[in-house]
Amino acid sequence: MAVERTLSIIKPDAVANKFIGEIYSRFAANDLRIVAARMVHLNKEQAEKFYAIHKNRPFFAMLIEYMISDPVMVTVLEGEDAIAKYRTLMGATMPEFAAPGSIRYDLARDGRANENAVHGSDASETAAEEIKFFFKSEEIFDLKR
Ligand code: ATP
Ligand code: MG
Repeated sequence: MAVERTLSIIKPDAVANKFIGEIYSRFAANDLRIVAARMVHLNKEQAEKFYAIHKNRPFFAMLIEYMISDPVMVTVLEGEDAIAKYRTLMGATMPEFAAPGSIRYDLARDGRANENAVHGSDASETAAEEIKFFFKSEEIFDLKR
């Protein structure tokens, strides 16, 4: 395993439900270091660009509306096997099918069906692109201890 970086987005529902702290605690408990972070209210163009891969899917309009409904917390996580590790912590896309104990099961199961609390990069190429989408290299930090 290698040290990797991945992009996390705490989505509008989880920010509104005051789950930023709960989710950050889970990062720490799983040895995922925060090396960059910012709150941002995405506009339509930004959200459409970020999720461009889904632009022909039937849920695209609903996804964009959701993602721009309130601010989100964007965070770069670093750690051993960070991409897959964070995807496991998140749980399956649909909260009702996510494993008990995962972020989506614990923190999004009772919300609206299309709202699932978090985003996480799904591969090393997408992680690199998504990190660049939100952060300049000087906004990402190498922790010394
Ligand atoms: P994310 O990319 O946000 O980390 P994911 O990789 O688990 O989630 P994707 O297939 O990439 O899932 O879908 C992106 C997002 O689009 C989902 O997180 C969810 O918010 C929304 N979405 C996906 N499938 C559906 C669907 N069938 N109905 C409504 N919304 C959906
Ligand atoms: Mg995805």
